[in-house]
Amino acid sequence: MDDHACRACRGCHGHLVLDLGEQPACDYFPRWDDPGPDPVYPLQMWLCSSCGLAQLLADPTVPEEPRGAEPAALVAQAADAVTQVAAAGLLPEQARVAEYGSPHGGSWLGMLTQRGLIPVSDGEQADVILDCFGLMHAADQSAALAERAARLAPGGVLLLQYHSLNTIISRGQWNALRHGHYAYYSTTALTTMLAAAHLSPRTAWQFKLYGGTVLLAAGRGAASRGGPDGVVRSLLEQEARTGGRDPSVLRGRQRDAQMRARRLRQWLVEQQSAGHSVLGYGAASRAVALLNQAKLDCSLLPAVVDASPAKQGLRMPGTDIPVISPAELAAKRPEAVLVFVPDLLAEVRSAFPEVEAAGGRWIDAEAHGSGGLQQDA
Ligand SMILES: [Zn+2]
Repeated sequence: MDDHACRACRGCHGHLVLDLGEQPACDYFPRWDDPGPDPVYPLQMWLCSSCGLAQLLADPTVPEEPRGAEPAALVAQAADAVTQVAAAGLLPEQARVAEYGSPHGGSWLGMLTQRGLIPVSDGEQADVILDCFGLMHAADQSAALAERAARLAPGGVLLLQYHSLNTIISRGQWNALRHGHYAYYSTTALTTMLAAAHLSPRTAWQFKLYGGTVLLAAGRGAASRGGPDGVVRSLLEQEARTGGRDPSVLRGRQRDAQMRARRLRQWLVEQQSAGHSVLGYGAASRAVALLNQAKLDCSLLPAVVDASPAKQGLRMPGTDIPVISPAELAAKRPEAVLVFVPDLLAEVRSAFPEVEAAGGRWIDAEAHGSGGLQQDA
């Protein structure tokens, strides 16, 4: 651990706070008939004692995940966010805009162009720099943030959207930790990172996406403009209460991880002995760590349904569980479908009424940490 330097401040002091052991790369979905074993890499979260950034420790090089279907919830949140930021006067017509997107999709550029903003080419200065789940994919966090800051025109705004560490802690979302996602931001740590890039937060918006997502607006020279507003201050206060800088709080997620995996496995064993068929839904990266922690195979979970054509014919990394198309939901008539991406729940219920029509249930796989599975069973 001693040789790890913080991805943001280069500090060498920190704590290993979450260790999920050797995990397959959640980005690499092998072909269904690839017998494996799939290569595994340590999956660990480290918390910097200096700047407070929670980050991925090891950095294996992994191939890109096949791009999934964009959940309707992600698209709706983008539209909502653009409306709110525009209402705050931060998206003026004719403003130059640069977007640092996520490799998983979800660009806002079309909507911003419709509002009269003008996209600029790579490397050019912009009045609005948007980073929607992009920054976390950079192994060198300080370099990536410095690059964005350098492109910000005088008076411009940097919009950073992230799944907040506070959500990960308070909702026990330990399986948010994954290879390829190098940083897990608290607003507190991000404020420190921004200061190193001569930026400071001005305001923020919160969204329910992924259980709690923050969109932070930052600019240069906050002091002269009165500093962060009440929304940012309340986020910082909330985080101080949750204890996102406290290694022991994050270590609690380790116990959650083990407990949830055990409960999931136990529940599936019970379903199997009761003769109930169960399928998964959402071949997402966060399902990979859960399936592997729970040591599941296709005898307990015969398949995971996913709408992305790119994932058909593949299997879940580290397991023999195939990914199948939603068309098979009607044929297989599952008694329960475990949804690994809770943001999809409303969408899939209405998209596949045949499941409930045949007496099946949709179950939020993340809710079972709070006993949801036991109640449902
Ligand atoms: Zn640091």
